[in-house]
Amino acid sequence: MTHYDLLLIGTGSGNMFLDKRFAGLKTAIAEEWHFGGTCLNVGCIPTKMFVYPATVAEEAAHARRYDVEASFDGVDWPGLQERIFSRVDAIEAGGREYRSGDRQPNNTVIPEHVRFIDEKTVVTASGEEITADRIVIAAGAAPTLPDTPGLDPARVDTPGYPIVTSNSIMRLPEQPKRLAIVGSGVIAMEFAHIFTSFGSDVTVIARGPRLLQDLDGTASAEFTKIFTVDHNVILGAQPAAYRLGDGEGAPMTIELEPSGRVDDVDVPAAIEADIVLIAIGRHPNTAGLDAAEVGYDLTPDGRLVVDAFQRVYAGGEPVPGVFALGDISSEHQLKHVANHEARVVGDNLVIDVAAGAPGAAAEDALEAASHKAVPAAVFTSPQVATVGMTEDEARQAGHDVTVKVQQYSDVAYGWAMADDPGIVKIIADRDSRLILGAQIVGAEASMIIQPLIQAMAFDQPADEVARGQYWIHPALPEVVENALLGLEFTPR
Ligand SMILES: Cc1cc2nc3c(=O)[nH]c(=O)nc-3n(C[C@H](O)[C@H](O)[C@H](O)COP(=O)(O)OP(=O)(O)OC[C@H]3O[C@@H](n4cnc5c(N)ncnc54)[C@H](O)[C@@H]3O)c2cc1C
Repeated sequence: MTHYDLLLIGTGSGNMFLDKRFAGLKTAIAEEWHFGGTCLNVGCIPTKMFVYPATVAEEAAHARRYDVEASFDGVDWPGLQERIFSRVDAIEAGGREYRSGDRQPNNTVIPEHVRFIDEKTVVTASGEEITADRIVIAAGAAPTLPDTPGLDPARVDTPGYPIVTSNSIMRLPEQPKRLAIVGSGVIAMEFAHIFTSFGSDVTVIARGPRLLQDLDGTASAEFTKIFTVDHNVILGAQPAAYRLGDGEGAPMTIELEPSGRVDDVDVPAAIEADIVLIAIGRHPNTAGLDAAEVGYDLTPDGRLVVDAFQRVYAGGEPVPGVFALGDISSEHQLKHVANHEARVVGDNLVIDVAAGAPGAAAEDALEAASHKAVPAAVFTSPQVATVGMTEDEARQAGHDVTVKVQQYSDVAYGWAMADDPGIVKIIADRDSRLILGAQIVGAEASMIIQPLIQAMAFDQPADEVARGQYWIHPALPEVVENALLGLEFTPR
């Protein structure tokens, strides 16, 4: 049995807070996989490094739309992978080396899976028991696999098996000629954009009547309308069975059936593909930690229960000295949220250590995490960005809402973009004039939403945001300005 002052499980955002403030403690970091976790190795960063070239390829293929002669002649798949992963892998190796080497003499890296055997004790895969005064659980989430005949979960993401997740698709030795994508959420849409733009024959299999169904209804409908022009999508369908091809390189068959979520749908009996990407969602890694078995409280969808101070709960009470952050406990599953929570956990640990015994810090001394105005983006084609409530949520919350939907083609930059489709939808409260939410579907959505995020974060009334500053003419954010100007408020 080895005892530490502080044990960190997971090196995604968890790896961020452990700085020189903790140099006097005996610390350990358990990481069973890549240092840096999902975002660096298989998530935000490499996907966006694929998305950008994909958008360049798409623009070239559609340049005629802007009266420009250009063409897309293919992608250098190995070259692209080398450019992306030489950078990512070097950062991963550097992070591991930094934590393991002489520069962190007080720290021990445990390169193994760990699971709890009681609230303050874990056992490693090789059988060592470890206790700690304080524990930070930052163990993230993993792709969910469906229980479908012909799909062997143990072989998914292993070399040569044609069914993959986001964990391995970017490292495939060859660009798939025919790719089937099961799912219609963020990850499915980003990879559909990447591989369609790179010239693969992509088919998206979606259960519902629309894509990105968690969006506001207007935004989801707009996205589905635009996306389905250039992407093959089968709505209202789900795989009934997978059949591997006979012999190496033979395509696999995906038998389809109606999902029951769309009326009068004409679903093909089967499609063929070289590779199938499963992108139906992600689940928190609490089961692998035996979190429920040792009594930690879980949400209905399997996340650790935490309070505003990121303290972990068991039996309805905070467990002294145990904190969590990121996808293991957050409803958001976003890197910027995980990073914010990591900062809060770091600060609260410092306070807790200074207070003496684990959990001794007074509650009013602790810092609360802020989950106000959490934005998100989908880097697909068109881009999508959201913040705050949907229109339905705002109405259900009892607000007297004012809503404006502005078309990109209403502003001069939209004309410059040859009237590319896109909308800005803003939802505000008629009386308080505060912005409740926004949904943008269209080019650069992730960038032009920022003034709305800022306004919500600082409680700036929508009419002041519209009129109280200059908006560069004729830049694309004018579409946001016009949407703000179109909101109607209770006269003062
Ligand atoms: C394809 C994809 C694209 C994404 N794009 C974006 C994006 O554009 N923007 C955005 O905000 N978010 C994006 N995300 C989500 C984002 O990556 C996550 O929200 C974020 O990385 C979560 O960080 P984390 O620290 O909570 O978990 P992780 O980074 O997943 O870290 C958890 C770590 O814990 C380790 N671990 C788990 N269990 C154990 C155990 N029992 N023992 C030892 N180690 C363990 C894991 O190996 C892992 O390294 C994307 C995700 C994916 C999959």
